[in-house]
Amino acid sequence: MTDNTETMMGEYMALWEEHGIEVGSSPRRKKSSKTKNTKTETPKLNSLSDVAQWLGDCKRCGLCKERNKIVFGSGNPKTKIMFIGEGPGAEEDKTGLPFVGRAGALLTKIIEAMSLNRDEVYIANIVKCRPPSNRVPTPEEIESCLPFLKAQIEVVRPKMIVALGLTAASTLTGQDSAMSLLRGRFHTLAWDDSVPLMATYHPAYLLRNPSAKKIVWDDMKLVLKKMKANQ
Ligand code: SF4
Repeated sequence: MTDNTETMMGEYMALWEEHGIEVGSSPRRKKSSKTKNTKTETPKLNSLSDVAQWLGDCKRCGLCKERNKIVFGSGNPKTKIMFIGEGPGAEEDKTGLPFVGRAGALLTKIIEAMSLNRDEVYIANIVKCRPPSNRVPTPEEIESCLPFLKAQIEVVRPKMIVALGLTAASTLTGQDSAMSLLRGRFHTLAWDDSVPLMATYHPAYLLRNPSAKKIVWDDMKLVLKKMKANQ
């Protein structure tokens, strides 16, 4: 096994562990179709309300079966920066709001350390319904839900996106790579090269690996520097 392969294996093991799945008995992550064209046709949408109306009481994938609430996303629709995670957890499923559990509290701290507050940013997820036991959403679930996130990004038109965790980073950039290789540099959306995107570790990962907080802060400093330079 090469060093690089070992690094990638470590990343995947950490990802499965992050989702409470025992490494060793882990199902293999299916290759994602991620940013391929989806079957859902996008109507004309001028606002986040239009997107929410289009989404409706969505039953387009199996995640609708066990959800309590759809977690649409929240924050400032005119923000310059969007934070995008993987999917709702238990607290988010109860409240219908993104990033409100322990990982959410840590994300709030990260946002505040950037001299911003949650009302100034927009926060969303790759999928809007909680995957059972917080498992990683399947490629099919991501494909079903992604058109709505794409529409939100199109309406908000942020100047910067921060992808939190490997699922968000790989889905949004279209790159199958380890988090350690994706983080720390700018990418663009797979379908729109006008929006810079920084990939970094998910706050839930930081709760288990506090030493990675410095790495995330290094990434956020790059984000702030680029946003300042692009003003
Ligand atoms: S995850 Fe997305 S596509 Fe699937 S049911 Fe929920 S809102 Fe609909």
